[in-house]
Amino acid sequence: MDGAAIARGVREQVAGDVARLVAAGGTAPGLATVLVGEDPASEVYVRNKRRSCAAAGMVDLHRHLPGDVTQADAAALVDELAADPAVSGILLQLPLPDHLDPGELLARIPVGKDVDGLTVGNAGLLAQGLPGLRPCTPAGVLEILDHHEVPLAGAEAVVVGRSVLVGRPVAQLLLERNATVTICHSRTRHLAEVCRRADVLVVAAGIPGLIGPEAVRPGAVVVDVGIHRGPQGLHGDVRFDAVQDVARLLTPVPGGVGPMTIAMLLANTVTAAARQQGIAL
Ligand code: NAP
Repeated sequence: MDGAAIARGVREQVAGDVARLVAAGGTAPGLATVLVGEDPASEVYVRNKRRSCAAAGMVDLHRHLPGDVTQADAAALVDELAADPAVSGILLQLPLPDHLDPGELLARIPVGKDVDGLTVGNAGLLAQGLPGLRPCTPAGVLEILDHHEVPLAGAEAVVVGRSVLVGRPVAQLLLERNATVTICHSRTRHLAEVCRRADVLVVAAGIPGLIGPEAVRPGAVVVDVGIHRGPQGLHGDVRFDAVQDVARLLTPVPGGVGPMTIAMLLANTVTAAARQQGIAL
């Protein structure tokens, strides 16, 4: 499953939505990425998000705070962005420097501007099956499955990982779509046996090569969220070469789930803007 191509399609769709929003009398969505300090990996992530945001016709409202900013000053910036009608979405790039409390800052982001979908408010809406902004990587997993018209209602879905960022919301999104969902984690016994039940297997354990062909039912659909940098480049939690002979569909790493994350961030931002402006897309 080619995540890069699917992500391109989502980005084109978002650019169309932005144009429709403006044509309907609205204003172009504004995305405020907030970067604290000089972490090189975070700088790259934020640069890519800003570039993609501008390419989709949105307004880049990036803010950069010094690495020694106080909690109070960082909170004041989030509050300012929360109150600014030009800001449709706020993305606080994590991780933050150790002296800052990310939970307290995330909690200041209004649910309607939480385009990363990571606040407790949006997690609660998802847990209750209510409309809200969904976390980007999990939403990207569902987008890949939908693109390939993978049947989810009644399907056996197994999710490996239960993090707040990936595993848990993926499981809830699959449940929302009426899959029968099993969540595995580090205490799960007989992991391969449980995974072999899956029609749809989503792996987000953060362990390189954890899943091999013995854990995959022939004909299953496998989505690999893991990303690891090794001597031969990027690879995932799934042993791609061995599993591709068993699975019906499989995402590669790189080029699978990875490119979907920014695409879904853009989709969330235009959705947030349209809701704030009361315009149906
Ligand atoms: P995480 O917070 O470390 O969570 C890992 C989860 O996997 C935990 O729930 C853990 O169980 C479970 N786990 C660990 N070892 C296991 C084992 N041997 N068997 C079964 N379950 C096991 O990681 P994360 O943030 O969810 O990220 C997972 C992976 O996805 C990482 O490789 C990360 O780099 C990647 N990722 C990719 C994207 C993207 O593509 N854009 C975005 C986010 C993350 P416990 O809860 O019991 O500890």
